[in-house]
Formats: sequence, structure tokens, C-alpha cells
Amino acid sequence: MNRRRQIYEGKAKVLFEGPEQGTLVQYFKDDATAFNNKKKGTITGKGVLNNHITEFVMLRLAEIGIPTHFIRRLNMREQLVREVDIVPIEVIIRNIAAGSICKRLGIEEGAPLPRPLIEYCYKEDALDDPIVAEEHILTFGWAAPHELEEIVAHSFRINDYLSGLFMGIGIRLVDFKLEFGRFFEEGQPPRIVLADEFSPDNCRLWDAETNEKLDKDRFRRSLGGETEAYQEVARRLGVLPESGPGDPKGSEIVQ
Ligand code: UDP
Repeated sequence: MNRRRQIYEGKAKVLFEGPEQGTLVQYFKDDATAFNNKKKGTITGKGVLNNHITEFVMLRLAEIGIPTHFIRRLNMREQLVREVDIVPIEVIIRNIAAGSICKRLGIEEGAPLPRPLIEYCYKEDALDDPIVAEEHILTFGWAAPHELEEIVAHSFRINDYLSGLFMGIGIRLVDFKLEFGRFFEEGQPPRIVLADEFSPDNCRLWDAETNEKLDKDRFRRSLGGETEAYQEVARRLGVLPESGPGDPKGSEIVQ
């Protein structure tokens, strides 16, 4: 058995030391959490589906020139990524009002926004990831001005590209969350790259005809059919694994 050192365990993923210096293995779990860990559960096969969906999105984004941490998928549940220093900011882009913005500003769910909206949350579990302004990010030095500029430019470009990509398969990209990291290469200034994942766990996807939710809101709101919804996204993207999400384990997690 391949013994690897575990670097970090998050809510939906585990990071292990990679085979080469400067790489990590990102393992996708079936665990699901919502409302800052107050609701916990499992979505069978989610890890397999999110691994494939993230691979697909990262490869497409690399093709349009977005630098990412993704190197290659290793197996059903794991992908090899570059080790980066995560910028402690969650970038949220919204095209249609849903989720926290509806509560915060009293906007009706489903209202199209006049233009894509960017929001930031400070990544700090103990504070429940509070929403912050650009000024906070710069004042507290969570990102340098030139880094934030790049993060914003990449985020809007990703939104334009993915909105079109999903529309092409009959899905509205309602909103999503991105995380970026600093990639260090010897002799070069650190580079901002897209990190983490892109999957129905961290975006909202609505069927363009029926508005059916094809994302984690099914779990948040106990609507049922979570696995089927994630499968449907993978199927429409053309990345539904042949065996279905049925390989339920992928390779073992070795502590
Ligand atoms: N999101 C996420 N992780 C978080 C918070 C939000 O991936 O910690 C995603 C969420 O899935 C949605 C978007 O960011 O696609 C906007 O989320 P929102 O602010 O509406 O918060 P939520 O309703 O998820 O609490």
C-alpha cells in the first residue's frame, strides 16, 4: 500500500504529500457539509464526480490561459496538483441572486443581476468566513494590490467562459466560489494560480429550462437526489465515469 503523509483534511477533500517535491495529491471525499459544518452528511459517489468535473473545468480554463494548480487526474478520486500558498480569500461571483445574498439584501431568489457581482469572504472557519471588502483584503495584506487585480481579472474571465460553457449544455451558472494560491518557482516571482476545485459543491447550477437545482443546494435544503444531480452535470459535460460514481472508494485513504 502506498503510504503518504497527510498534509491537511478539509470538509470535502484530503491533501496528501505528492510524489514529487512541490506537488500534492488532492483526494475527493463523499462527505458533505453545509451551514458552516452544522449540517453534515454523505453524498454517495460525490468525490468521484467532483474529481472528474474539476479535472474537466481546470483543463478547459488552462486552455483559455488561466493558470491553475491542476496537473493531472490520478484515479477515480485523486488528482495531482501543484503545492501553492492559498490566498485566504474566497472569491464569489454571482450572475443570479441565490443563497446568502438573498438573505443579506432581501433579494428574491432567481433575480438576474444587472451585471456579474464579485464578493469576497475571509477564509477563517472560527469566524464563519465573513464577507469582506477589497479594502479589508488590502489593509490586512491578505493579497497584494497586483495580486488582487489578477484574481479579479481571472475570476470575471472564468465567469464569462464557464457561463457560456454551461449554457451550451442547458445549465445556468448562477454563482460560484473560487480560491487562488501563490505558486513559487525558483528564481521567479510568485504567480497567482487558480486552486481548490470547481464542482457542484461550490457553485450553483440550474437547469436552463426547468430551473431544477443541480448542485449542493439539494443537500443544503434536503431536496434529495443529490447524487443524481451531480451525475447529471458530469453526464452533460461528457465526464460521467463509465462505472458511474460507483467506485465508491477509489484508492484508500492512508493516514
Ligand atoms: N460557497 C462555497 N463555500 C463557502 C461559501 C459559499 O463554495 O464556504 C459557494 C456556494 O456553493 C455558492 C456560492 O459560493 O455557489 C455563493 O454562496 P453563498 O454566499 O450564497 O452562501 P451559501 O448560501 O452557500 O451559504
